[in-house]
Amino acid sequence: MTDSFSRRGLIQLGLGGAAAGVLAPGQAGAQRPDSEKLGFAVVGLGKLALGQIVPGFLNCSSAKLAALVSGHPDKARALAAAQGLPVDAIYDYGNFDRIAHNPRIQIVYIALPNFLHAEYTIRALKAGKHVLCEKPMATSIADCEAMIAAAKAADRRLMIAYRCQYEPLNLEAMRRLRSGALGRPRLVVTDMGRQSDLAEPSDAWRLDMAKSGGGALADMGIYGVNASRYLLNEEPVEVRAWAQTNRSDPRFRTTEDLISWQFRFPSGAIGEGSTSFSYAGTMAYRVLCEHGRLVADPGAFYGGNRLTVEGTAGERQPKLPEIDQFAREMDWMADVVRGKAPLVSPGEEGLQDMRLMRAILDSVARGGATIRTDWGYRRAFDPAAVVGVPAPA
Ligand code: NDP
Repeated sequence: MTDSFSRRGLIQLGLGGAAAGVLAPGQAGAQRPDSEKLGFAVVGLGKLALGQIVPGFLNCSSAKLAALVSGHPDKARALAAAQGLPVDAIYDYGNFDRIAHNPRIQIVYIALPNFLHAEYTIRALKAGKHVLCEKPMATSIADCEAMIAAAKAADRRLMIAYRCQYEPLNLEAMRRLRSGALGRPRLVVTDMGRQSDLAEPSDAWRLDMAKSGGGALADMGIYGVNASRYLLNEEPVEVRAWAQTNRSDPRFRTTEDLISWQFRFPSGAIGEGSTSFSYAGTMAYRVLCEHGRLVADPGAFYGGNRLTVEGTAGERQPKLPEIDQFAREMDWMADVVRGKAPLVSPGEEGLQDMRLMRAILDSVARGGATIRTDWGYRRAFDPAAVVGVPAPA
């Protein structure tokens, strides 16, 4: 159980039991007047912030955009004007700490390159703000630990933006597996990767080990590491991995390209994962169970995900609602801060993935050696038990 939302707290909210604890969107925070929404400062106006996060506020019921933090004043000013934000809601990286004096900001959304997550998360926490930080949480285990310690010291919430843990298809997949209707899960296969382009500035830092903390694995493979854990609702106790990296390809001077890994889970299930920055875009998984299988392909896109469930009763494609995943997680964060929703993806979740990714890279470096990962981590909340799925439209 994390510090931020105890089981007792959940029970006090009437959310103690699995069935009673499921919060559908809007249930924890129905559409609120603008004056009651919690204000977010978005840090780093790159592809994700401009393409998904800022537009996502339009679909939020509990969160609103309150400030922008950018190294490019012209871009920030133009965006602020378009969003109806005053000029005093614009910050740069030098004067960022002044957000402490802005009561319109309750939460800071870190959308910076990975190597800057720790610094800006810790500065935001020291400024008294809560933090929603993009995945991967940071570029090192030590940075993740420092971020968690800073949240504790400041008594603020720290959530990692694992959007799939709040997304209807993934929640439906978790529930089908938990129900036991397909029998025990035996094998989870996750494939998460895409082509990369060194000429793209947002890929250049991802291909730099110091800035990304792990190339394709840190950017895309992390979805598979995380999914295998939330699909099975358990933690791997051993890992081994291999990589195929063409070092004459200028993209892969410091990071691995294609990695394939195996996780051994205590239940006896095996997880197989792959990631790459040189195969065609895919974000898919499948789970083979005793009496059926479940296929999510795609399973982690921003939209258009497709779930197929094959069991003894035949093959079904459950009808699931399309939602704005970024609005959903920003609303969830706002409700966490209000004490109305559990912190499902806290810093500890980000640290666990970071440690597992380190173990994968250690195994690669040691020629596929088996690395023990049974350090005793247990997630505080099963998303399937506390995060609701909206009804299909
Ligand atoms: P970009 O490179 O497109 O944007 C990052 C922004 O950070 C830049 O535009 C810049 O904004 C700011 N920045 C500050 N310092 C630097 C620096 N030294 N180098 C580069 N940029 C800097 O990255 P993305 O938007 O694609 O990714 C941002 C984060 O979001 C990453 O952690 C990534 O893993 C995560 N992400 C998560 C996704 C999800 O589905 N959850 C999907 C995509 C990304 P400015 O000019 O305003 O200063």
